[in-house]
Amino acid sequence: MTVIVTSQTVRQWIEESARVLAEQRHLLTDLDSAIGDADHGVNMDRGFKAAVARVASLPDDSPPGAIIRAMGAAIMSGVGGSSGPLWGSALRRAGQDLGEAAEVDGAALAGALDGGVQAMQRLGGAQPGDKTMVDALLPAIGALRAGLEDGRSLADALTAACIAAEAGRDATIPMQARKGRASYLGERSIGHLDPGATSAAIILRALEAAVRASADGDGANGDSAS
Ligand code: ADP
Ligand code: MG
Repeated sequence: MTVIVTSQTVRQWIEESARVLAEQRHLLTDLDSAIGDADHGVNMDRGFKAAVARVASLPDDSPPGAIIRAMGAAIMSGVGGSSGPLWGSALRRAGQDLGEAAEVDGAALAGALDGGVQAMQRLGGAQPGDKTMVDALLPAIGALRAGLEDGRSLADALTAACIAAEAGRDATIPMQARKGRASYLGERSIGHLDPGATSAAIILRALEAAVRASADGDGANGDSAS
């Protein structure tokens, strides 16, 4: 398996996430205006811009875990909405799980994402079906692990994870929100896409793109034979 996650991959992930979240901020805010307080696009854009700035100030030789911890700290302190502390705690925990390793393989990445979502769930108490970002993230981690166990490359397993995240995102439409501001709407939250699940799927697509770019860069072609 030639594809591994390096500091360069993580830096690219953060930049690509910030780029797409900025581009999609009006969509995210529109989704949040239907069942929340119309700030999700602004929150995610601000948080990831803060992460890009924080990470740019780190030493060049910072390992992936340190970069992700700094990203989490920047998002935690830079965002007012509930998504700031939730993503912040998830990323800080994921970064702690990665420790000081210079290179991260698929299993370690899946473990860190898993630990991060568990931290998010401990903080926010969301279970599957509560109509939150957890509904996109948990299926994605399951698909990532399944793909790796099947012997797929990390890039291909992440593609499967993104497809699962997007299905999880779409599955939030008929759900009634049981966490966050949308829960105040009761049954009126039914029939709307959850904004946090939508941004979570965007962030995973950015991770897939960054890993695929690293895979192309080191000459691997991303299929399981490589
Ligand atoms: P706020 O709700 O404080 O305005 P945002 O608008 O930035 O924060 O984020 C809203 C999103 O946060 C929701 O769409 C949902 O996915 C997610 N969310 C809210 N509460 C929780 C929770 N307790 N656990 C997990 N995710 C949550
Ligand atoms: Mg909001």
